[in-house]
Amino acid sequence: MSPEPSPQHPLLGRCLCGAVRFEVRAPFTSAAYCYCHRCQRRTGTARSASARINVDDLEILTGRDLIRAWQPADGMAKNYCGECGGHLFAGSLDADFVAIRLGTIDGDPGIRPEAHTWVSSAATWEDIPDDGLPRYEGNRP
Ligand SMILES: [Zn+2]
Ligand SMILES: [Zn+2]
Repeated sequence: MSPEPSPQHPLLGRCLCGAVRFEVRAPFTSAAYCYCHRCQRRTGTARSASARINVDDLEILTGRDLIRAWQPADGMAKNYCGECGGHLFAGSLDADFVAIRLGTIDGDPGIRPEAHTWVSSAATWEDIPDDGLPRYEGNRP
C-alpha cells in the first residue's frame, strides 16, 4: 500500500468527467461493501464500496458547485456530479463524516473493505465473494 494519506501526501479523487476533484488528507477510518437496493440502482451493479473520512480531512478542489445530492426520506444523501452523474460520496459536507465511493480514488486508497453489509438484499445474479470478511444483514453494528 502507499504511504498513509496526509496533508503533504493527499489522495486524489474525482468524478467521471473530472469536473469535481477532491483531496483526502488523512487515512480513511473504515470501509465496507454495500449490497442494498439503493446502491444497486444507484450504480447499476451488485454492490458498492465506500470508505469513511472525517469531513475536516476532505477538501473539494474543483466543481463544488456541480455537486448534486439526492436525499432519500431515510438514510444518507447520495452526492454525485451534476455534469456526468458520477457518484462521489454519501452524507453531508455539513456533517462530521462522509462515505467516499472508493471508485473515485486515484491509486491505492490505503484501506480495504472490511465487511459485506446489507447482504439480505444481495443480487441473485452475483455471488458474494467467500473472502472471510464478516457479513451483515443490514448496516454494520
Ligand atoms: Zn463529473
Ligand atoms: Zn447501499
